[in-house]
Amino acid sequence: DTLNIKTHSKTYPLYIGSGILPELSAILRNLNLSITKILIISDDQVAPLYMDSVTTQIKSEYPIIEFIIPSGEASKNIDWFYECQTCALSNGLDRSSLIIALGGGVVGDLAGFVAATFQRGIPFIQIPTTLLAHDSAVGGKVAINHPLGKNMIGAFHQPEAVIFNIDFIETLPKKELLSGFAEVIKEAIIWDKSFYNWLRNNITTLSDLKDEKLQYAIEQGISIKSQIVAMDEKENDIRAILNFGHTLGHAIEAELGYGEITHGEAVLIGMLFAIKVSEETYPRHLYYEEFKQWFSNFGYCTDLPAALDKSRLVQRMKKDKKANAGTIRMVLLKEIGKVEVQEVRDDLLYKLLN
Ligand code: NAD
Ligand code: ZN
Repeated sequence: DTLNIKTHSKTYPLYIGSGILPELSAILRNLNLSITKILIISDDQVAPLYMDSVTTQIKSEYPIIEFIIPSGEASKNIDWFYECQTCALSNGLDRSSLIIALGGGVVGDLAGFVAATFQRGIPFIQIPTTLLAHDSAVGGKVAINHPLGKNMIGAFHQPEAVIFNIDFIETLPKKELLSGFAEVIKEAIIWDKSFYNWLRNNITTLSDLKDEKLQYAIEQGISIKSQIVAMDEKENDIRAILNFGHTLGHAIEAELGYGEITHGEAVLIGMLFAIKVSEETYPRHLYYEEFKQWFSNFGYCTDLPAALDKSRLVQRMKKDKKANAGTIRMVLLKEIGKVEVQEVRDDLLYKLLN
């Protein structure tokens, strides 16, 4: 299937399906770029599995350079960014060269930022290999981390195309599948009641997430994300609703240390918390316990890790980009498919965190 991702700055195609890699060469030709060289950036978990299956499709047509980073969040830093630039320069990439990101969100964010900055910006393509990357590959946010903050150095740079070969998901570890699925659940909850109902009826255990159902879930998730991004590419207002579950989620990730919990697992706990806060704020019955049960069935941890200090979490939440003069603002749920950004008082946060 092909979806069109529309943003103010450009519209680009997203191809999704099983067995779509043989189309890569035609997809590149359709971009109408006169590509001189292709730099493929991947990581050391993904490259042994899938690098050859990608290069085989295009190596007779373009000079290919491969660059492999160590897998994991720690590689999304200025050193690996610089190594990528050195690789691009020493191999003679120019303004007509193309970068391909083959991997999860770490590779996508890093390779995308390299593409955004190399000679003031060259085209790039996302070939996501994680479920989470259905989210990170769409929307044009690219970045690396700074020791003082995650994603603090970055740009908006839209890819020329996204190619989602769902067969890649077969080798993804369960923890990473859970991480990506949390974002799909988020997209349904904030935007689309009928997709949410479909998920509830069709995806009851993790083993349901394969083949046509997996593809449908990813397509719906991407379509929701891209509709929201189309309305607000640079995150001035509505794009903030994609942060549902992330105010506490980011705080948990930062407090535990990246790598201790996946992004999606932290966001899932954050969503449950946001649902609780919503029930108290409006007040309205949102069936918190049912959410919790559904999430547990997949194998998610639904409790706040006991080691975490509540006041440190609240301090972290105050550093969230939605916070305003020390007041925490969260994305709250009014009903399935309807969310809004609301100020939340500290005493309510403490009460519910406890
Ligand atoms: P990741 O890229 O680290 O991938 C997770 C792990 O799975 C890695 O160890 C990787 O080597 C491995 N892996 C990847 N594909 C595999 C496959 N098919 N089979 C086996 N193993 C595979 O993590 P992620 O969860 O994909 O992405 C997280 C990153 O995405 C974070 O840095 C986050 O900030 C970023 N992100 C960006 C956006 C955005 O809008 N740009 C949105 C959400 C998240
Ligand atoms: Zn997220």
